[in-house]
Amino acid sequence: MFTAFLIKYAEIGVKGKNRYLFEEALVHQIKYVLKRCEGGFKVTRTDGRIYIHALSEFDYDEVVENLKTVFGVSGICPVIHVPDEGFDKLSATVVDYIDKVYEDKNITFKVNARRARKNYPMNSMEINRELGGVLLESYPEMKVDVHHPDVMLYVEIREKIYIYSIEIPGPGGMPVGSNGKAMLLLSGGIDSPVAGYMIAKRGVKIDAVYFHAPPYTSDRAKQKVIDLARLVSRYAGPVYLHIINFTEIQLYIYEKCPHEELTIIMRRYMMRIAERIARENECLGLITGESIGQVASQTVQSLAVTNEVCTLPVFRPLIGFDKMEIVDVSERIGTYETSILPFEDCCTIFVAKHPVTKPNLKVIRRHEEYLSEKIDKLVQQAIDTDEVVIARW
Ligand code: ATP
Ligand code: MG
Repeated sequence: MFTAFLIKYAEIGVKGKNRYLFEEALVHQIKYVLKRCEGGFKVTRTDGRIYIHALSEFDYDEVVENLKTVFGVSGICPVIHVPDEGFDKLSATVVDYIDKVYEDKNITFKVNARRARKNYPMNSMEINRELGGVLLESYPEMKVDVHHPDVMLYVEIREKIYIYSIEIPGPGGMPVGSNGKAMLLLSGGIDSPVAGYMIAKRGVKIDAVYFHAPPYTSDRAKQKVIDLARLVSRYAGPVYLHIINFTEIQLYIYEKCPHEELTIIMRRYMMRIAERIARENECLGLITGESIGQVASQTVQSLAVTNEVCTLPVFRPLIGFDKMEIVDVSERIGTYETSILPFEDCCTIFVAKHPVTKPNLKVIRRHEEYLSEKIDKLVQQAIDTDEVVIARW
């Protein structure tokens, strides 16, 4: 029965002169997800509102599910729009609308009319009163409550008349593309896809990098990361995933450096390489799934030593999250099931029994000098041979 959707957006409403940029990014993302849906749609922006008009039959649930993945959307209101053919016709339409949408009429309501077209023969107060009266007459169980109604029935008088009363919550945040781009270090774990989701939610476009160590990590482990990138792209738009062959670097570190420091030195090389690829691809920051204290390489001391190799800002949206909180988000956004598939990851292959938890920067730097003979060449080679996969939903 619905023929259109009114899209509400909160945060981007307050952006002053930049507002139109945000609105454009939002319209762009809405059009992008609608391409996944059956049917034709027209997206318009008028008076600080975004409307989606269906041009053909469509699957309501499919459209709503997809709109729920667009950051920047705070509410999705399914609308019926009817031509203005006089007040009696409008009353009949409203009575019919209530009947179809609210099976149980034991509800309180309020009519909230807005006259955007001033030549309409009644003012908003009159429309509220008259329509309220018609509804009370048609459905004696219904009661008016002007303060906390169960149903707020909006009637907007424009060229056509728009009627809506349902608001489905959207994900909030800001439209992707309105806030630059950053490089996500994406592993096969639970945390990094959630971290990517959270930064994308702030309007940031996402590229990703995965460090692969064949044959120690299998093709199935790589496929899992591609699948995770695709799950993130459901919200973030297409994700360019750089797959870096990390084997030689890892083996070289293993050969030359103390094994308790392997993880931390490896993490420093991941960050260095990620930063190089980020700069080559106009990314303004790095994103990781780190959280203080989660493992040895994420103590405050380890994070400080890892961070030291980067000059780009590193966004760590999960830094203060407990594992359970991260799991909650991953279940909600649909990455959890894939993340827990039991494939090896390159951080655990060579892991020492007792990795350092309080690395000393000077010591780590000194031990990295053991790598001086070949490491620059290996890093360059890893970057030159990266494989790019475009992950899209
Ligand atoms: P995750 O669940 O995201 O894998 P984790 O708890 O396993 O995280 P670590 O393995 O210490 O934590 O990794 C910390 C962060 O470093 C990850 O969240 C991710 O951003 C990055 N990272 C780790 N391994 C890789 C990898 N092989 N490729 C790309 N990034 C990685
Ligand atoms: Mg991991």
